[in-house]
Amino acid sequence: MELEKLLERCEPVIGLEIHVQLRTETKMFCGCANRFGAPPNSLTCPVCLGLPGALPVINRRSFELGVRAALALHGNIQNDTGFDRKNYFYPDQPKNYQISQYELPLALGGYVEIENDSDAAKKIRLMRMHLEEDAGKNIHDPDSNSTLVDLNRAGTPLLEIVSEPDIRSPGDAVLYARSLREILRYAEVSDCDMEKGNFRADTNISVRPRGSGELGTRTEIKNLNSFAHLRACLEFEIKRQAEILESGGQVLQETLQFDPVTGRTSSMRSKEEAHDYRYFPEPDLLPVFISEDRVGEIRGSLPELPGPKRRRYVEDYGLSEYVAGVLTADRESAALFESAIARGGEPKRMANWIANEVAGQMNDRGLAWDECPMTPKMIVELEELIADGTITRKVGRGLFPEIFGTGKPPSDIVREKGLAGGADLSEIGRILDRMIEEKPKLVADYKAGRKKAVNAFIGPVMRKTRGKADAGEVVRLLEGKLGAPDEGKS
Ligand SMILES: [Zn+2]
Repeated sequence: MELEKLLERCEPVIGLEIHVQLRTETKMFCGCANRFGAPPNSLTCPVCLGLPGALPVINRRSFELGVRAALALHGNIQNDTGFDRKNYFYPDQPKNYQISQYELPLALGGYVEIENDSDAAKKIRLMRMHLEEDAGKNIHDPDSNSTLVDLNRAGTPLLEIVSEPDIRSPGDAVLYARSLREILRYAEVSDCDMEKGNFRADTNISVRPRGSGELGTRTEIKNLNSFAHLRACLEFEIKRQAEILESGGQVLQETLQFDPVTGRTSSMRSKEEAHDYRYFPEPDLLPVFISEDRVGEIRGSLPELPGPKRRRYVEDYGLSEYVAGVLTADRESAALFESAIARGGEPKRMANWIANEVAGQMNDRGLAWDECPMTPKMIVELEELIADGTITRKVGRGLFPEIFGTGKPPSDIVREKGLAGGADLSEIGRILDRMIEEKPKLVADYKAGRKKAVNAFIGPVMRKTRGKADAGEVVRLLEGKLGAPDEGKS
């Protein structure tokens, strides 16, 4: 049955648990480097290998980055926190337990705002945020038909962000994950690079009849590492659960895995409860106290975050929501915009260059914003060349890929190409005269009021003047020669 039809009768209730790798130099409880891509098992020591007698020491930086992230998400930092052991046996977890936070998490509450097309801004509440160490990685080797273990990632710091089940559609789940990622990147706590596993989502979902206040039985889907997989697995799971319920069946509480190739979920194991993990306070670590003063200092060091920045751009500069959204989607794009204004650029003009031309070039060339070769100075200079009449806007846009590609100052390119100064009117006049003489059919079409005929005159003029002519000027000259065309035809 179609998903839309099912959604008229059934309501999904969705929560997300997101694991974010914190950007530290070293691991969470030892001095090994926290780095991606090193040779397997080269970044290990007795602590993260779980050798007997090795003792963990808390990395202060990972703790403070966790606090920073939690503050950016409006969480209430808990002054008294501590670590617990979460016991489970898994080949990539050498200690056979994971140091995590259970009884005393780093932060409670908080929220992330999302804006979809139909609702006004909606707050997705957070339940808790806690720190924990990551596991290593199992790599299946088809050649030897065996599984290899790489423990470079074992012991790297993670922040787990658990939402309340406030999400009601797969689209909103993706918006939530995107907004969260945007905020954490602004706060510089994580690169949130999904391909490197810096940002991984687990989701839980249940379905209930619309209007029902009760929660259905939920399933949990682990380790989704792209927004597309998150959406696809939720869509599949909503359909699966709704069909079971509508045929009078019972959804089983279980942990599922999603296969992106088939687009289906399948059972991994029955759902664990907290008691399955036999949590107890980590005896090798002291409880942690963080003072209100220190929390205040970290709060004071946070940059302006994307939501408030977006609103400020709309209010202060009169930008559209869309353009403000493009500019604030990354820290670097917002910084480019703000420095262009600081150099005297007119805000709306600067916004349009960046949101259209710069973003377009970045997209075409597959660049990330931190690789953008365009400086604020170049954008301001280009706009000045247009504003003072040295070149037309059309020429400016035409030059953009070259400016972007070469990184040369726009004024140099304009000078080298001899583009300064508009085409002179007598030159345009001569081109038009020749066309009128050679193309009687075009003249007849023009006089009959066919709008296409006007463009058929403008195109060759633009080509022959290398885009220096102003289209309005061409139309005025043409009207001077042939009279205004009849109205109303196309
Ligand atoms: Zn280590």
